[in-house]
Amino acid sequence: MKTHYDVAVIGAGPIGSYTAYQLVDKGFDVCLIDAKQNIGKNVICTGVISKEAFRRYDLPSESILSRIDSFVFISPQGQRLEYIHPDVFAYVVSREIFDRALLALAQKCGADVYLHQQIITIEHSSQYYRLRSKDKKYRARAVVLATGVNYGLHTSLGLSTPPGFLYGSQVELPSSSPNQSSRIEIHISQSFAPGSFGWVVPISNDHSRFGVIVEKAATLGLERMLKERLHFSSSRFDKMRIKQKPIAYGPIERSVRDKILAVGEAAGQVKTTTGGGIFYGLLCSEIAVDKLQRTLKSGYSLKDYEITWRTALVPELDIGRRMRESAQSLSDNTIEKLFKFVKQHRFWVELLVPRINFDYHSNFLFYCLNSFESFLKK
Ligand SMILES: Cc1cc2nc3c(=O)[nH]c(=O)nc-3n(C[C@H](O)[C@H](O)[C@H](O)COP(=O)(O)OP(=O)(O)OC[C@H]3O[C@@H](n4cnc5c(N)ncnc54)[C@H](O)[C@@H]3O)c2cc1C
Repeated sequence: MKTHYDVAVIGAGPIGSYTAYQLVDKGFDVCLIDAKQNIGKNVICTGVISKEAFRRYDLPSESILSRIDSFVFISPQGQRLEYIHPDVFAYVVSREIFDRALLALAQKCGADVYLHQQIITIEHSSQYYRLRSKDKKYRARAVVLATGVNYGLHTSLGLSTPPGFLYGSQVELPSSSPNQSSRIEIHISQSFAPGSFGWVVPISNDHSRFGVIVEKAATLGLERMLKERLHFSSSRFDKMRIKQKPIAYGPIERSVRDKILAVGEAAGQVKTTTGGGIFYGLLCSEIAVDKLQRTLKSGYSLKDYEITWRTALVPELDIGRRMRESAQSLSDNTIEKLFKFVKQHRFWVELLVPRINFDYHSNFLFYCLNSFESFLKK
């Protein structure tokens, strides 16, 4: 077994695999290591990824389950505000197929893949990092932590952890509105998702992913949404199939040290609005590869990585947190009034719609926060 590499990438989730693929493509000797044996199996994720991400990166189209061209916000009492895009703007993927295809891409390009290998320690010697799993040792000139929402290695390496976490819970069930296979429903109510929302995302004509993202008690919130909002009887879903996972809520303060960097959810590069992490992770992976190339070939400092991704994303991440804080204090009654107000004043829709962007929410949110300040302060 080869043990010396230019870069060791830890974590073969989508961001780690894509980082390894790009590094190999640039001519580096790379190993990709994951604790799991079965990549993509039982991943808890809704799998909504923008069409823009597919346009920009080499993502596997065979993982696409459905195509999204509209979404509808539904108020606590059932008022609806619908947005229909002229074209498909996002895809829903099977994470099992998506993650495996990206791993295969990295491997096909020449990355050495080691599965069922949890990295336990990383030590720095004069020229190399020494990585150790239970039964193997690796050496690399640089290390990429793409460990997702696992921060066990960060502190000992001098990297920080996210300032907080949200919790997402999800279950796949027969659809509540069959044949709406291109529309996402966003359900709002303080009773099941305080300051946040629940979703119904179609994966076929008759099945959807149902979920909520909240600060605590996500599973309870999803059960409530299914029963109270969508009128599922207890016999229509098995509570035990609801799965919950933490989601990084905010960027880590320190994502680089010497020749180690964190990328993807390992760096908190996740939308604070929706909890979506794949597009921002891919974007930062692109930045990371560019900076690693300069460091390994020309000796530049890796610190530039942190400056560049922060400049691109921190304003987005900050405004998402501000919006969530404001939304926490809204009663269902106020949310109802806000829906009514927008529906009665259609010019608001004309003003809001051009600001909608699937991946960047700050333009839309700034506008909402300023325009509806009086509602948000109630
Ligand atoms: C309910 C829910 C719904 C979501 N929906 C969406 C969505 O619709 N769209 C979207 O973009 N995002 C969504 N997300 C977020 C998305 O799933 C994550 O942001 C994304 O998986 C992060 O990718 P990653 O590659 O950074 O990490 P991960 O996919 O978590 O991969 C990390 C990998 O690192 C490995 N690892 C960790 N530690 C070690 C170690 N010490 N040694 C070796 N291997 C290690 C793990 O085994 C894992 O395979 C959702 C999240 C949740 C919880």
